[in-house]
Amino acid sequence: MGFNIAIDGPAGAGKSTIAKKIAAKKGYIYVDTGAMYRAMALYLLRVGATLEQIDEKCEGADITIAYENGEQVVYLNGENVNSYIRTEEVGRMASISSPNPRVRRKLTELQQKLAANADVVMDGRDIGTCVLPDAQVKVYLTADSHERALRRYKELKEKGEPCELAIIEKDIIERDHQDMTREISPLKQAEDAVLIDSSHMTIEEVVDAVIALCTT
Ligand code: C5P
Repeated sequence: MGFNIAIDGPAGAGKSTIAKKIAAKKGYIYVDTGAMYRAMALYLLRVGATLEQIDEKCEGADITIAYENGEQVVYLNGENVNSYIRTEEVGRMASISSPNPRVRRKLTELQQKLAANADVVMDGRDIGTCVLPDAQVKVYLTADSHERALRRYKELKEKGEPCELAIIEKDIIERDHQDMTREISPLKQAEDAVLIDSSHMTIEEVVDAVIALCTT
């Protein structure tokens, strides 16, 4: 087993920003598991699956990962879907479809294979609790919901996308509730995870705090 760093936490806590920086500093592979749930959601939206059909329809999605120019690329049935999975609609569908046991089994297997023989920083909701229970470093990264909404709002504004802070915050709270209360692999802090609240921390401070944990 390589060195595994698991970072879990709610939407907009900065997991991917932090994980990418740690991966670059340590020369590890960054595995974004949310992107896999988003690719599955994109497929389900494209085939027009209803809630009841998720179980059956998810089998039609073949999701694979490649690394191109240092970036994780998600392939859905052979198509690079990176540029289609970052919308709010896909994020909402990911949260609705991710409680499905078949969806989770399929994607958990893929994630465990990626981490089996490599040094990885993996972020998601259930990495420390379910996907990599033996990870050497586990972090639960959070921040208050208003701060998280504000960060997402600034990100969208910078991209020139129309958005409203109150709607983003409502969406984040709904998504957290959905992720925390589902029956299978709910979002929660693993017993052996270190809690980091980034509400009043800079990105570099969070990165340093996680790197300081990598002593084993
Ligand atoms: O992190 P991101 O916003 O891209 O994740 C989208 C959705 O995918 C989450 O709201 C959650 O429902 C689901 N997810 C999950 N388990 C993971 C990663 C993401 O259930 N390990």
